[in-house]
Amino acid sequence: MSAAVIDGKAFAAGLREKVAGLVPAFEAAAGRKPGLAVVIVGEDPASQVYVRSKGKATEASGMASFTHKLPAETTEEALLDLVHQLNGDASVDGILVQLPLPRHIDESRVIATIDPDKDVDGFHVVNVGRLATGLEGFVPCTPLGCLMLLEDRLGDLSGLNAVVIGRSNIVGKPMAQLLLSKSCTVTIAHSRTKDLPALCRTADILVAAVGRPEMVRGDWIKPGATVIDVGINRIDNGEGGTKLVGDVDFADAATVAGAITPVPGGVGPMTIAVLLRNTLVSAYRRAGVPLDKGSI
Ligand code: NAD
Repeated sequence: MSAAVIDGKAFAAGLREKVAGLVPAFEAAAGRKPGLAVVIVGEDPASQVYVRSKGKATEASGMASFTHKLPAETTEEALLDLVHQLNGDASVDGILVQLPLPRHIDESRVIATIDPDKDVDGFHVVNVGRLATGLEGFVPCTPLGCLMLLEDRLGDLSGLNAVVIGRSNIVGKPMAQLLLSKSCTVTIAHSRTKDLPALCRTADILVAAVGRPEMVRGDWIKPGATVIDVGINRIDNGEGGTKLVGDVDFADAATVAGAITPVPGGVGPMTIAVLLRNTLVSAYRRAGVPLDKGSI
């Protein structure tokens, strides 16, 4: 193995410390804590775990956490009512509706109802548009976390060739926009892309956000490239249990890449850290308290 391992866990811990360090100044200026409201509908076990850890992380950073657990049979109207209520609640700076929602609820309608200035997930079309046009808004947490890791590793990204595999609204597309905003030459690859390995070999920065265990092999990677593995896949460990792997064959890729994120411990921990960061930024913005942009 020759690649440097990008320690997302350590970077995320540092970011969470920075967020926590900026909470007291906000509290002193605004007379309240920054607040994050998380809404979950139904009993999906993975979603319950995510929501619990988001709540805990919010409190650990000194911010206020408001969790709203609604039963699976909640109507769309009742959920929209709650979102309206949170939009109007001055103690709430960020609203996150945990996805997926039960089938009878129209996710896009719910996201469209969130006040874009409290949309710390960055999924509202207003924030998608702001990202695409270079305006200040909220950027989805996972791709913003990837960008932070890349800039920490590489500094100025301008002129680099970036290939993003995956075109989801949550990861692939915003990731590509972010890289473009940093003056990379960006290609988005997807399930219909022809000769994906050859395309990947052109990438100085390769981001894999596919959901296919260990799809990206070492011989897909340009020597010295920086590889960001967003994938989280649970597979059989061959001993009757399971293990987590990314979309990149880590051991193989690490013999060629210059730097690579592991799974777990790479991109994963960044998502919650950036969510806390976005909530803090929202609080400062909404209260009109100045925040040094370089500080976070
Ligand atoms: P998605 O299913 O919405 O999108 C996957 C994308 O991969 C699609 O755009 C599709 O075109 C592309 N794709 C599928 N098969 C392909 C192939 N054979 N070749 C090239 N492209 C192909 O998934 P998503 O929500 O973007 O998530 C992607 C992965 O990232 C998943 O493993 C998910 O668990 C993980 N993820 C991790 C985090 C985190 O670390 N916090 C957050 C979000 C998603």
